Amino acid sequence: MNLNNLEEKVWIAGPCAAENREQVLETAFQLRDEAQKRNLKLFAYRAGAWKIRSTPDSFEGAGNTALTWLQEVQDTLNIPVCVEVVTANHVEVCAKHNVKMFWVGARTSVNPAEIQKIADAVKNTNFTVMVKNPIIPDLKLWIGNIERFLNANVKSVMAIHRGFADISENILRNSPMWEIPIDLKVKMPHLPIFCDPSHITGNINWIQQISQIAINYGFNGLMLETHNNPKKALSDSSQQLTPTEWGELISSLSLRSNIDSIDLEKLRSKLQNIDNQLSELLYQRMTIVDEIAKVKKENNISVVQPKQWEQVVKRYKNHSEDTVYQEFINDFLELLHQNSIRRQ
Ligand code: PEP
Ligand code: MN
Repeated sequence: MNLNNLEEKVWIAGPCAAENREQVLETAFQLRDEAQKRNLKLFAYRAGAWKIRSTPDSFEGAGNTALTWLQEVQDTLNIPVCVEVVTANHVEVCAKHNVKMFWVGARTSVNPAEIQKIADAVKNTNFTVMVKNPIIPDLKLWIGNIERFLNANVKSVMAIHRGFADISENILRNSPMWEIPIDLKVKMPHLPIFCDPSHITGNINWIQQISQIAINYGFNGLMLETHNNPKKALSDSSQQLTPTEWGELISSLSLRSNIDSIDLEKLRSKLQNIDNQLSELLYQRMTIVDEIAKVKKENNISVVQPKQWEQVVKRYKNHSEDTVYQEFINDFLELLHQNSIRRQ
């Protein structure tokens, strides 16, 4: 499936795991009704069949049988379905059940050898592949995994941001570290990227806020775990929404377009002006630093001059009380200082 219109937001919903036929079909029916009622387009129905769990006594999914239930959803409700592929041989099982879309999970994504095997298995096929970020905050690895599928000539590759493991006590299950998916968007602007607020939050309390932030940043859509009876879910029970809650959440979002307006263009040209000046000034500054280096060397003066640097810092501190601005200036000055010392 191709996602041609990147302007349209895309919704993927469904349970963490396919537990039994009744749960899979009932959740799908309710989601379809909810989507129809609210005029939302369900891009795909999700459910895990092969679950990688931290502990061996956890529910590990229904396996291949789950694919027959998903196939039934696709055939009877006409909603495309997707599943998590954990090993390369799962690709064949998907093909056998006409499941044309899958994602690779955060744990598989830390293993490029397995990703390569999965990429080899989908080489030159029409699968849609969604690549979740690795559980560790390693953008290079995430991009590498995406490239493995692009190199295998998969036409429709997408990314899913599901947050990064964070061992510190946190209200969120995984840290969003938004700068990483934003950097991915900058480096691969044509790649659709979804957010998975369910695995970021780990509970339903913050799902709305995280979803709205993702939309504000320009993500192309959301994957949300949805279960007909979340309390009884065999995995990720505390983070799953009922189909009704899902509909309410999606309808509550204030959507943003990725298209620029005239007003933005005007402001952009002002920024361009400032950027040109900044770049010129920084270059000039650097040439003066080089001259200072020469004088210090000729006169045997040490490179680091704390008193002098204090003066520089003072010059930058008068503009605003805004703490975010102050933090930025601190980081910027540190960079400037380090660069200046390194050059000298
Ligand atoms: C999932 O989507 O069900 C899943 C296991 O996600 P992740 O790989 O992001 O933990
Ligand atoms: Mn889950």
